Amino acid sequence: MHIFQWLLSRGSQADREVPESDAVTETSGGVVAKYVLVTDYTLLTNYRNVPLATFFSCIPTERFSSRLVFKIIADPPELDARGQPIRVPYGLRKVESCLVQRVGRENVAIADPQNAQRFITEDTEVVGVNTMDPLGLGPVSMSFTMGGTLTPYTKAMFLDLMAQVNHRPGRKYKIVLGGPGGWHFDYRPEMQKVLGIDHIVHGEVDHLAADIFEQIVEGSAPPVMRFTNATAPRPEQVPKILGPTMQAMVEVMRGCGRGCAFCEVTLRKARYFPLDYIADEVAMNTRSGADSIQLHSDDIFLYQLENWRTMEPNEDAVKGLFQHVMDQPGVTHAYPTHGTVSAAVTNPKLIGDISQIVRAGPDKWIGIQSGIESGSPKVSREVLHRKAAPFAPEEWPDIVVEATEILNRNYWFPAYTIILGLPGETPEDAWMTVDLIDRMELIPNNHFITAPLTFVPIGILRGEAFYNLDTMIDEARFNVAYRAWRHVLMEIDDDLAQMTKLPRPVLGVIVAAGRLGGRYILGLMHKYARKRGFRIREPAKTLREVEGHVVSFPTA
Ligand code: SF4
Repeated sequence: MHIFQWLLSRGSQADREVPESDAVTETSGGVVAKYVLVTDYTLLTNYRNVPLATFFSCIPTERFSSRLVFKIIADPPELDARGQPIRVPYGLRKVESCLVQRVGRENVAIADPQNAQRFITEDTEVVGVNTMDPLGLGPVSMSFTMGGTLTPYTKAMFLDLMAQVNHRPGRKYKIVLGGPGGWHFDYRPEMQKVLGIDHIVHGEVDHLAADIFEQIVEGSAPPVMRFTNATAPRPEQVPKILGPTMQAMVEVMRGCGRGCAFCEVTLRKARYFPLDYIADEVAMNTRSGADSIQLHSDDIFLYQLENWRTMEPNEDAVKGLFQHVMDQPGVTHAYPTHGTVSAAVTNPKLIGDISQIVRAGPDKWIGIQSGIESGSPKVSREVLHRKAAPFAPEEWPDIVVEATEILNRNYWFPAYTIILGLPGETPEDAWMTVDLIDRMELIPNNHFITAPLTFVPIGILRGEAFYNLDTMIDEARFNVAYRAWRHVLMEIDDDLAQMTKLPRPVLGVIVAAGRLGGRYILGLMHKYARKRGFRIREPAKTLREVEGHVVSFPTA
């Protein structure tokens, strides 16, 4: 196949005819499934294994350039012989597992979202929809769509899925929605009815999914069900996955405890999965050919935390976790989803030891997502609470700079988030975030990216106003966003080719698309700045410039 045909092949599997018997009857072992689980396309594509390309699920659908990028990057999910996706989001696998334990394998199917209608028949009793960003209200989508004035792929593909799921007029089956994006319907409650969603479930229900589905079938389940810490499962109550997961994700712990005010996760109680449990889930992924395991936690450095006062990592436990995963047959790499950088400053040796355990090096970096959120000591104290612990909240900007240097030195590549418009943030606070980016860029051989997000009122700040980028942005916040994207472009230019494992000609197209796309976005930002009369501050060339807050306008 010609390279461009290959790159533009999204939909090639979708468009192929899936025989009815393959898609439904054989899928469920010869019996039509009474429970059908489904999620939208943006959560099933592998984004061609381009590092951090999952962000592309939030780009707007309205622009030709972003449609082209999405078509190139978001390759179709791999399907098994029966038309079911082979790799499935981790949370959906948990629900599947709970249901299978109760009603048997033959009664539970996971549908390909491109052919969901074929899985839903007269015999279906409940369709379970897993979702992350159903209405495009998530922080990344809100940032990429100018506060929701455009439509991100996440929302467009969720709506497309709901149209399919609702396709039978006078349907008897019920539709239940769950997953981390359920909170969107708290802000847009009318959409539940508009989209024909009979029930919405909030909270952790890995162990209760079968009871909930039965109540739905009996007609005794309320339209909105909320589950709190009081009913959250203990690790031994969480069923193990029965199939491979996206990015070979395996969960190692839940909860955090650092207390950032905008975060839902910190409201959950901390729990840790034991090593043998984790090994079984790793094996479920390696059996399907995965060799690089993504360890999911909200802060990997808090695994089996003992000292809640200082939040200093339990070094033996964290290293033991990585070693155990690397010791499993077929595993060549293990990396975390999230971690807080203060741990790197607290215990730099731990970072180096993990690098040795996973055999990191110039050609094998460890990716980690981490929140900077703000470069302001005041915002750190008021909103980030214990993110800097064991250090004082006011030390946060210094910790971020030092941690970046430690991480980079040990072949860790942080993907940082920055939040624009946190409650109480002033333009001066935002300029301090620009100063922080300046300082990080002055680290020799630095490697990191920064994704500017807009404040979304969740966690204990639920009920506060969203930060509307389109109407509330000012010169300071604009400069934060500009500098963050400018740095992303620098990394695309310097590192994308080296860090993406793809065949050469395809890699060339992906890198070229990234470079062009990045420049296109920066060009748009320059135009936007001119229109709004915002000046763009020149990056500092020396630490003295940063520390002296020497500002020179205009430039860039
Ligand atoms: S450190 Fe991360 S996971 Fe923990 S409370 Fe803060 S934002 Fe949430």
